[in-house]
Amino acid sequence: MHSLANDLSSLSRPSRDYLKARHRLFIGGRFVDSAATKPLPVIDPTSGEQISQVPAGEAEDVDRAVKAARAAFDGGAWPKLSATARERIMLRLADLLEKHADEFSQIESVNSGRVLAATRAFDVDLSVDYLRYMAGWATKIHGETIPASVPYVPGAKFFAMTLREPLGVIGAITPWNVPLGQAIWKIAPALATGCTIVLKPAEQTPLTALRFAELVAEAGVPEGVVNVVTGIGEAAGAALVTHPGVDKISFTGSTDVGRRIGELAAKQMKRFTLELGGKSPMVVLEDADLEVTIPGAAIGIFANHGQNCCAGSRLFVQDNVYEEVVSGIAQIASSIRLGPPLASDTQMGPLISNEQKRRVMDYVDSGRAEGATVLVGGVALEGPGAYVQPTVLTDVRPSMRVVQEEIFGPVLAATRFGSVHDAVKMANDTKFGLGASVWTRSIDQAHWFIRNFNAGTVWVNTHTVLDLAVPFGGVKQSGMGHELGEEAIKHHTHLKAAFISLRDP
Ligand code: ADP
Repeated sequence: MHSLANDLSSLSRPSRDYLKARHRLFIGGRFVDSAATKPLPVIDPTSGEQISQVPAGEAEDVDRAVKAARAAFDGGAWPKLSATARERIMLRLADLLEKHADEFSQIESVNSGRVLAATRAFDVDLSVDYLRYMAGWATKIHGETIPASVPYVPGAKFFAMTLREPLGVIGAITPWNVPLGQAIWKIAPALATGCTIVLKPAEQTPLTALRFAELVAEAGVPEGVVNVVTGIGEAAGAALVTHPGVDKISFTGSTDVGRRIGELAAKQMKRFTLELGGKSPMVVLEDADLEVTIPGAAIGIFANHGQNCCAGSRLFVQDNVYEEVVSGIAQIASSIRLGPPLASDTQMGPLISNEQKRRVMDYVDSGRAEGATVLVGGVALEGPGAYVQPTVLTDVRPSMRVVQEEIFGPVLAATRFGSVHDAVKMANDTKFGLGASVWTRSIDQAHWFIRNFNAGTVWVNTHTVLDLAVPFGGVKQSGMGHELGEEAIKHHTHLKAAFISLRDP
């Protein structure tokens, strides 16, 4: 074992047992065998070694899962349950996840390479909160009564109203960067609105979704309401997208795959929401409080090892403070301790896979070849783990791939600017529009940037803060629709209008 590999003996008994267990698909309230014979390996990215395996679900498995979800929806097992009953079951699910928090966090850290504090906060604790937040919505979903005149029927009286009804069967496809967190972002609003769901987690990180399915059964969610089919995107994912029994696709992942999914869904008039890639700018003005800005911007890019759809991967700094800000961030980058995520002194673990390591290093090499300067980092660590040093690139130009394309790794491209008009122009010069931040003490500048950034979320003096109650979505090639907050409820329901003809007695 090399020193950068996880020491799996430090895992708790339940976590170790779960890694060793035989995993099956969760369909119709039961764990069942897949039609596939060849399993999918689950890899520990610190060592490249297989730590578990799951079924490589196929179209036949997806078909069974969609039929189970369809039956649970059409038969009314979930949508016709009272809202308070759904709320109670969701609260039980949250309690169960909270009870097993350590186990979920450990499994997620081993599988995704992120430190325990990160998986605990973003995969487990936030998911517990989101289940509770969405459980609260279950009893608050309603239409409106609308005064209707119907002027072309003189003397007639009508009572008009709207009903907000569950959309049906949700096909959810999630990425590997925050595996359980993303799964719960899909499952919680589906449950709150009375929808049923088939979840296809990312092939790299399928374990916590399957473990969560055990809690679904334990919490008393009726069979078929939540189904989990593991497998690769081109097989299980594609089958879910095109299955006629699915009413809506909720996808989080890359822009290329999202675009294809949108096209396929539109052909069948399926609803879809897409949360896709980003190349989010962080703009630092000369009046910014640099004591807040320098560590804040470092977190903006390096949190989750840069494997974050709203990572602040492009930094724009006003001339007067450029040297100080960039050297401050570079200093933080070179001080970040890389190591196995299970070790208590590790600050950053490996990337998700060696494939991702190669992808990120290809970008760094392309930056070098196109004339960028590697101020710090730019190196992958020796050994079988997927470790890449936090990297800061300077002397970049807008045409470079490292400035235009999403790297999904700990790589920051820094540029200087003179006027705020130049800054906003450069910040918006991207096909993406997920997030953007401005760092300033001026309320006027902050408001001006909020209005002028082309982005789904704008942060002031912070970056990548998300909240359960605040809608999250992108513009341009970063996606369509929103997750979180009341918007998630709207995206899982449709409005029905009704008229009742009335006669006075
Ligand atoms: P990444 O590059 O982050 O892995 P992807 O967009 O490839 O992003 O993957 C995100 C999710 O989309 C994963 O669950 C993956 O299995 C799934 N996926 C990939 N290709 C397809 C596809 N053609 N159809 C449906 N799902 C897919």
